[in-house]
Amino acid sequence: MRQGLSESTPRRGSFRSQWDLVSRTAPREARYFQASVAPWLGQQSISDFAQYLQGAPRSELKGLPQPIKPLVLAEFALNFHERAGTLTKAVRSSIDDYTSGRPSMRIAHQPNFLPSLNVTGQAAVCESIAKLQPSNPVQVFLIVDYDLNNDRRYRHAMIPSLSSHTGYASLCAPPLRKDEAVLIFGEKKPSEKDLPQLIQPLHDHTAHDLAIIRQVCGVTESNRYRLAERQAIIREHLLFSLRNGTTLADVNSIFLSRVANLLLGLPTIFVPGSLALRALTEHLEYLWSISGLYNHACRKVAAELEGIGVIISSSLVLAENVAPFWVVCAHDSSRIAMGWADWQRTKATGTCSRCHTYVEVTSRNIGDFLHGQERAKLIPRVVWDDLLDGFAWGHMGGCSYRGGLEHYMFTTAVAQRLGLTPLPEFLSEYKPRGPLNEYEHAAQQLEKQRTSSREQQAARKAWKLARSGRASVAYSLLWKPDFKDLGHSFQGTR
Ligand SMILES: [Zn+2]
Repeated sequence: MRQGLSESTPRRGSFRSQWDLVSRTAPREARYFQASVAPWLGQQSISDFAQYLQGAPRSELKGLPQPIKPLVLAEFALNFHERAGTLTKAVRSSIDDYTSGRPSMRIAHQPNFLPSLNVTGQAAVCESIAKLQPSNPVQVFLIVDYDLNNDRRYRHAMIPSLSSHTGYASLCAPPLRKDEAVLIFGEKKPSEKDLPQLIQPLHDHTAHDLAIIRQVCGVTESNRYRLAERQAIIREHLLFSLRNGTTLADVNSIFLSRVANLLLGLPTIFVPGSLALRALTEHLEYLWSISGLYNHACRKVAAELEGIGVIISSSLVLAENVAPFWVVCAHDSSRIAMGWADWQRTKATGTCSRCHTYVEVTSRNIGDFLHGQERAKLIPRVVWDDLLDGFAWGHMGGCSYRGGLEHYMFTTAVAQRLGLTPLPEFLSEYKPRGPLNEYEHAAQQLEKQRTSSREQQAARKAWKLARSGRASVAYSLLWKPDFKDLGHSFQGTR
């Protein structure tokens, strides 16, 4: 999921569970809805999706601004990879190809601290799809650093833990006080002195887990020295990222790029979103100009989904007077909610809840909040953000973690109503094939051996997490560093 997690409101279960229920109780309606808005979601495998992508239509609506020039993004990418120490031969030639007009595919996600395999793996999935395209597209990872920094998944990484009574342990970026929530790109980076504290839980849990695995399995493949070497690799990459990053988001992005470009050897290009958004004045002016139609389309789609039994989150269907974008407070990087000031939607206003700064945006001065700024000061809300995906960036397709299904299904339907072509995306989840590794095997044995149900539950949780894509990539680097064919361990969504 790329954006807007903190906006969601409680309702009857998650979108996923509602959708699964509808797929069982009203399969015809659910299938019809999905087939009419996003037929490619039925593709389960990378090769099926790749084949679909070749014939996918492109947006050709009259009056639509041209996609932005790759040259703009290529410059941001070059600057990022130089700082990240990841301007490999493959990355450099990707940037060259991109600049010279080669088609592109995109991945987009928040730069989470020690990200999950579901997120990290998207770069590998994207490469696997790109390899099957005759046009051999360039792969661009848009770093969504313009959401709020108080999202749990942004700050906390999970690793399975056999010694913990919950079955997992958290690795945390420095905690945040309640009143410190700001836009991700506005948060300072931790100091190098914080490194031991950031990494210590990983060392502790690994040592305890190795001892438990030995008790359960006897002789083990992993030993103290091998694990210590792998821990040192993680530590070194994190230290490099801390030294060269400018903000916590940048530190996290550099770490991700080092895993993708150096450890996995992928050619993915990374582009910070808060920089890239500055190039979108024309595209945001266009969306502003169709505000009335947009509002109507959102309501119609929500009603249609409700008709088949799915309630859409209120963060996606905004009240009539709420503007579909935020403004960043110039004083404290807070996110200011904007409301329409008049019924024709010519002006939006808002006040910072922290410092009470008043802001006003009109369709004419949007540009002042974008290209003239160091980072974008006007941030599209989630539906606008997804609509831009279809026509502003010029990509031919995308890859996402399937957690974003609700946003995606809703916005593709809204795009379709507006006559915009949505970006075909492969929404996938990590589903490893092949035998269990020794960690997973030990967790499974432990579940059988333990006598109390609470302990059994913890062991089961640990092995499920170890086997899922929700665990931090740090776990994979330690216990299953053989990343070969990672892309093909992901499966699509129905
Ligand atoms: Zn403020």
